[in-house]
Amino acid sequence: MAVIVYGTHVFTKMAGYFGRKEECPVCNRTYKKGFVKISRWVHVEYIPLFPVKTTYFKMCPVCGSGVELKKKEAKSEMSNNNDESRQEFEAFAKHVLANKPSGFMSTDNSYEFWVRDLVSGEEILVETGLTKDQIKRMKKGRGYKKVPVIKV
Ligand SMILES: [Zn+2]
Repeated sequence: MAVIVYGTHVFTKMAGYFGRKEECPVCNRTYKKGFVKISRWVHVEYIPLFPVKTTYFKMCPVCGSGVELKKKEAKSEMSNNNDESRQEFEAFAKHVLANKPSGFMSTDNSYEFWVRDLVSGEEILVETGLTKDQIKRMKKGRGYKKVPVIKV
């Protein structure tokens, strides 16, 4: 008897930056908010069949703090886009080998998550003391296609 694998899978994608530039109460950086599309699909045998729910995460592009919005709310905020100034980011991680724990079975939390403001060229350190899995989760949560890891 064959075992059929089914369930739901979550896809994330950065939809862009919308709205006015606002100061983030957490990191005090002033940017337009990023909107990450979160779609949950039903899959059978890992083949996505149809979407069951779509929400958006509206977040600070630097520290990542924000709120989840219903699709309708997000669409209306995204259509109300009166600031045409260019805003773009990319993310990368640094694996700080000097901080890598040497003990047997110890968790390697020597990763750092960075974002680069592609307009100003500024590189901003977001968080230190991370594991590789946490980097993967941040990549997914922020809807990045790739977060290259640089060994330093
Ligand atoms: Zn912030």
